[in-house]
Amino acid sequence: LRTVREHAARVVVGTSCSLLHVPYDVEAEPDLDPALRARLAFAEQKVAEVVELARSSWDGPDPAAPSVPLAAPVPGGERAPYAVRAAAQAERLGLPPLPVTTIGSFPQTGELRAARAAVAAGTLPEQEYERLVEAEIERVVRAQERLGLDVLVHGEPERNDMVQYFAEHLDGFAVTRNGWVQSYGSRCTRPPILHGDVSRPASFTVRWARHAQSLTDRPVKGMLTGPVTIVAWSFVRDDLPLRDVVFQVAEAIREEVLDLEAAGVPVIQVDEPALRELLPLRRASQADYLEWSVAAYRRATSGAGEATQIHTHLCYSDADQILAAIDGLDADVTTVESARSGGRILGAVGGIGRGLGPGVYDIHSPRVPGGEEVERLLREALKALPAGRLWVNPDCGLKTRTYEQVESALANVVEATRRLREELALS
Ligand code: GLN
Ligand code: ZN
Repeated sequence: LRTVREHAARVVVGTSCSLLHVPYDVEAEPDLDPALRARLAFAEQKVAEVVELARSSWDGPDPAAPSVPLAAPVPGGERAPYAVRAAAQAERLGLPPLPVTTIGSFPQTGELRAARAAVAAGTLPEQEYERLVEAEIERVVRAQERLGLDVLVHGEPERNDMVQYFAEHLDGFAVTRNGWVQSYGSRCTRPPILHGDVSRPASFTVRWARHAQSLTDRPVKGMLTGPVTIVAWSFVRDDLPLRDVVFQVAEAIREEVLDLEAAGVPVIQVDEPALRELLPLRRASQADYLEWSVAAYRRATSGAGEATQIHTHLCYSDADQILAAIDGLDADVTTVESARSGGRILGAVGGIGRGLGPGVYDIHSPRVPGGEEVERLLREALKALPAGRLWVNPDCGLKTRTYEQVESALANVVEATRRLREELALS
């Protein structure tokens, strides 16, 4: 401001961009640790700071620039070669060709949301809420068995949000009560505040996955959010390089992967829908980002033994732009959004050398896809991929849909898959 003032007769001071993506007022957060609150500025506080800067004396000393320690590279870790893993997993899971699965969440019911609010308000005991979650998991498992899916999920009923739930269970994060910001369209989220060193005091997804697996003989897939996505969708401390923060989160997710595996969960999905989102705009910085973000993912997942199948899921990803990085994640199965973008990605996915599930219908629409439509997309996919590597799944999680829509859509998906399986068996 001092320099500008030397060159201009009149200076107008404002924020450098709109305040749309910060919450409104830090004073509306009575639950935050006061020491943390004193370090935060939401929109009202930022505006006050701008006013203070504009008004304050121009002759004060320059603040000293903080020195940023440089990150030591952290090795990503290696799993057994894919061929070895694929054989071990085929034997353990015994899946049919074109296995059908989903991306994780099933419809979030109004009842569950109300119950979570009641727990927060102190009017519903935690144990009763947990029983409701278990009942919902049973409903989701039975629905998938009835529909004939091959790799089941527990449905994520306990998660208010795929990042906030993780922030609530990891040290180093705070969550807000009223810190809503716009995410897209009319949807809003409350990004957690990552303010300290991240660690995992105890496992927090295992009990739900184990409960789901106890209800069925079919393999259940444990669901985790990846380190890049957790950081991308939080407000993040800036006194450490981003990669160091992401590696701390990766370490916590790695521990969760190991605990899921030890609990007998045979398939574990680590979602990274925000991988593309954090890609730097400057081309010169992109390769470095992709290298450490992929290494962080591998650090999170490489503790899994060869018979544990690792899935990853990416959406909103323009996946074709970062295909080499996606391949570098080394997941045994990758599911990507494809139906919504009209199968555009199919031309490129042949480059991924392991299992791949291009989504067969767009979950963002309430429209139920017909069986022929799904069959047509699968036939397209089979031109780009060998049948042994093709998975069948919706584009993304189902939490914004109704049970009615989900059950009709998945019934059509299973029916289309069965027709193709018969054909493949004859050829
Ligand atoms: N597992 C998450 C879900 O199904 C993935 C959501 C996402 O990709 N954005 O809801
Ligand atoms: Zn998705």
